[in-house]
Amino acid sequence: MDIIRTLKDSPDSGPPMPAIFVGHGSPMNAIEDNEFSRGWAAVGKSLPRPKAILCISAHWETFGTHATAMEHPRTIHDFRGFPAELRAVEYPAPGAPEIARLARETARKMRIVPDFDWGFDHGAWSVLCRMFPLADVPVVQLSLDRTLSPASHYELGSELQSLRRKGVMLVGSGNIVHNLNQIVWQDTAFDWAREFDRKVKEAVLASDHASLIDYSRLGAAAGLSVPTAEHYLPLLYILAQQGKGEDVRFFAEKVTLGSISMTSLVVG
Ligand code: ZN
Repeated sequence: MDIIRTLKDSPDSGPPMPAIFVGHGSPMNAIEDNEFSRGWAAVGKSLPRPKAILCISAHWETFGTHATAMEHPRTIHDFRGFPAELRAVEYPAPGAPEIARLARETARKMRIVPDFDWGFDHGAWSVLCRMFPLADVPVVQLSLDRTLSPASHYELGSELQSLRRKGVMLVGSGNIVHNLNQIVWQDTAFDWAREFDRKVKEAVLASDHASLIDYSRLGAAAGLSVPTAEHYLPLLYILAQQGKGEDVRFFAEKVTLGSISMTSLVVG
């Protein structure tokens, strides 16, 4: 395949691909024309074209770390109560078994196993269909191992850093603040949600990754903002990509629906 040839030809010292964390929020952002979907599309246009995307989505939790290794991943409509128009969305990007293999070989301490059942869940496709609407960049999804600590998720992210110099773009899809029990279907934000979102941004700008890994110590707002870790953890994979001197820029900086932060960022 072309990708294998291109990867073999890629010098390891090439410029690193940017790494992106996207706050995905409601699945409706995939089909609604709103400030978030427009922002994702604009960022997608500003990025260099990757040879492949490695996507870490909040919506795929497993025991052990899995990487999709099929040629043609299916589009998974993993939600209920949304309109038929959303359930009809397909994201037909090809898979990239050779990138899944490369990720497995690159992660030395952490074991990644190939997967042939999953596909693209809405954490991945709702964002990618806006950022890469042509669906012509091969995509591998990486699962979140339920048994790993936040520090180990960060460590696995660090191990994958060298993929960026081989033309692979890491995309994390989750939400810095994500509390469905507190959600209100209005464009508003609880004070604690704004506070945690702000503290995370400050720590990101200070490159204080230790505090971001140990996020439960960022104050009382952390417990309400991250009641379960799966939407927060993709952020750690992306922060782990930050090399010396690499900038971080934010986009879609907003808390909405009371308890959902859409704050997103680009590393590099
Ligand atoms: Zn989600």
